[in-house]
Amino acid sequence: MAVIAVDMGGTFLRLAVADDTGQMHRYARLRMPKSQSHFDGSQIWEFVLDSIARYVADVERRMQTVHAVSMAVPGPVTDGRRLVAAPTITGHEPIPDLAGALEARTGRPVHLVNDVSAAAWHLGEYLDFDRFFIVTVSSGIGGKMFDRRHALRVLDNEPYAGEIGHLVVDTKPGAAPCDCGGRGHLGAISSGRGTERLAQRLASREDAHFRGSAVARMLNDSRVPITNEEHLIPAALNGDLWSLSVIDRAAQPLAHLLSALIASVGVDRIVVIGGFAQRLGAVYKDMLSGLISKHLSARAFSRFGGNRIVVCDDGQEICLAGAVAFYRARYNVQ
Ligand SMILES: [Zn+2]
Repeated sequence: MAVIAVDMGGTFLRLAVADDTGQMHRYARLRMPKSQSHFDGSQIWEFVLDSIARYVADVERRMQTVHAVSMAVPGPVTDGRRLVAAPTITGHEPIPDLAGALEARTGRPVHLVNDVSAAAWHLGEYLDFDRFFIVTVSSGIGGKMFDRRHALRVLDNEPYAGEIGHLVVDTKPGAAPCDCGGRGHLGAISSGRGTERLAQRLASREDAHFRGSAVARMLNDSRVPITNEEHLIPAALNGDLWSLSVIDRAAQPLAHLLSALIASVGVDRIVVIGGFAQRLGAVYKDMLSGLISKHLSARAFSRFGGNRIVVCDDGQEICLAGAVAFYRARYNVQ
């Protein structure tokens, strides 16, 4: 029987059907309302619940009976059922009982898993390394440790484990606001959204460095906001020095934190996922590796090696595949 995989992110809601062999079909990607306009929290949750319920009904009508829904969510999850925070979706507004509401609408069991935990379950299936840290750089920032020799494998038994996005890395009073309501959090600075905001701030100063950049040429004096998708990422991939310097500056606190992690517990790899980092690919890998080399001692960095930073390919749906991998691992479904 089919399992419906869902990956709810700050920008997109992704859905697919996994068959008995784990193969994915009928991929769908819907833009989340927040990025289109200013919807309130209840409208966003209604969009999510309605989209998933319609998708399940459509699969059952056209294909086969759905066994369960496995949903990757961007925040800590308790008891496999309750999402306790989702700042990249609805800030610090209350979150409804998503699993309960979806079960009522679909008549199918619904399981929730943190999206980076889901990614860890998926990556653990095909990466050979024993111990690696997965970090997502997308709307926000999150992380999880995978250890093949540990009974749990994905070390998320404490709901706060991996919530690195809300570490305070800038204590100044005017530090960048985070989606969660705090200030100076890692996710407010080093995420895709944080990088976009930094680009906008620096561009508004209109210094000579910006005026000579590829992004300034793209905007052609218009006052449209800079976006990652249309401006910053394409320019950086073409080697635009201003765009690269913005991304580098935004990533510095993340590199510092990852260096501390490497030095404290040791990992075989740092695996980077998330739409922002995956689109930048080798550019992001080289930049992160360069920043980490500045924080680790020369001896530690030479032992770790910059080639142990892995950025997953653009377009790889790691968290969506992870929702299925989690379900199969947790419920022992082969
Ligand atoms: Zn925060």
